[in-house]
Amino acid sequence: MASTEEKDLYELGETPPLGHVPKQMYASLIRQERFGEPRSAFAIEVVDVPTPGPKQALVWVMAAGVNYNNVWAALGRPVDVIAARQRRGATEDFHIGGSDASGIVWAVGDEVTNVKVGDEVVISCGMWDEDAPDIAAGGDPAYSPTYKIWGYEENYGSFAQFTLANRLQLHTKPKQLTWEAAAAYMLVGATAYRQLLGWPPHVVEEGDPVLIWGGAGGLGSMAIQITKARGGIPIAVVSHPDKYEFCLQLGAKGVINRKDFEHWGRLPDVDDADAFGKWMQGARAFGQKFWDALGERRSPKIVFEHPGEATIPTSIFMVDNGGMVVICAGTSGYNADVDLRYLWMRQKRLQGSHFATRDQCEAFNDMVARGEVDPVLSRTFPFTGVGDAHQLMRENQHPPGNMSILVNAPRVGMTEVP
Ligand code: NAP
Repeated sequence: MASTEEKDLYELGETPPLGHVPKQMYASLIRQERFGEPRSAFAIEVVDVPTPGPKQALVWVMAAGVNYNNVWAALGRPVDVIAARQRRGATEDFHIGGSDASGIVWAVGDEVTNVKVGDEVVISCGMWDEDAPDIAAGGDPAYSPTYKIWGYEENYGSFAQFTLANRLQLHTKPKQLTWEAAAAYMLVGATAYRQLLGWPPHVVEEGDPVLIWGGAGGLGSMAIQITKARGGIPIAVVSHPDKYEFCLQLGAKGVINRKDFEHWGRLPDVDDADAFGKWMQGARAFGQKFWDALGERRSPKIVFEHPGEATIPTSIFMVDNGGMVVICAGTSGYNADVDLRYLWMRQKRLQGSHFATRDQCEAFNDMVARGEVDPVLSRTFPFTGVGDAHQLMRENQHPPGNMSILVNAPRVGMTEVP
């Protein structure tokens, strides 16, 4: 409820007068002594509201999105994000995660002209120093040493009443979406957009088959829709028939159950003919399933990767001659084997990809605003559920699609400001 009173701290569900910045806020945050399972790593505490720098904005968070990066932050591995920030000079001994948000601009720095107080925005998670020489010279910000992920590598993410974002992270909230749906899509969607459209000449075009791992997951659900919107043919992989219908509804032409196969993980030694032959049998059978799902004997032009160690050997084997395996994570492990014979003889490309540029975020946001991509919000948690939502994700027990947390929005289904 909107308050007319200027206070130092507002309870969840209370809204300060527009533009009044209280001294303190509630945040669901991680401390080093709580590193471990997400359920107990997050706790709600009161901390000071940060002050925006000249090119930054303070945003009143209506809802926050749930992403895998804060599973890693909670575990404290592979990177202790608090220690890493302190090594770069940060003084805070806590981590406020949250790399997706919808909300209202509440205060802006002196050099912010692209948004004003009161604007309804979604926030993308790529942060960089606009004045860094490589970026000022027109370089891709995602290549810059200054490129960081907000709410993971940088503090003051969206699991708090206020978040701090750079001006280039702010995008117009699609009007038709509720606060919680608007908080659900940008991180996974813009990542998938860059993977599928950011690496010419390997971009999805009319009629291109695309193999999508984790089709019912956050990235996969976006990749299916982007591929479909571009006229490509998405074939999704999942781990249970329960997820088939979800992928087909989003536009997948076919779905493969990875549990029907056993050849996952690192490649056997190439000199071990028996083991290698068995691996090859598995990979070929998987390839046959792909052709069955596609309805023709064509290989994928692009393989949309993120599981990593478990699937890379199959992805490299599967992708068409001259095609691309594009990867943004190694959820199952980082020691992925590549049989170089396939890579060079068949002139395949293995491409790393990491989040997105502002232009890519804007282009993806336009697809959502036009209704070409749905955020596929599957479940919304209250502010007390930050740890539970991440625990579900850690155990791969989360529902298909994307999850959100209500922060200042008092209930689901709202598009207006309370
Ligand atoms: P998600 O919603 O959990 O989806 C991942 C899907 O991968 C799961 O639904 C699961 O589907 C599938 N999967 C899990 N283990 C697998 C395995 N061993 N083999 C094959 N498939 C497996 O997570 P997400 O949001 O899509 O993120 C996935 C990964 O990408 C995370 O590690 C995340 O940190 C990373 N990521 C990176 C960036 C970036 O910019 N670099 C951006 C977004 C996400 P099934 O069990 O149904 O197969």
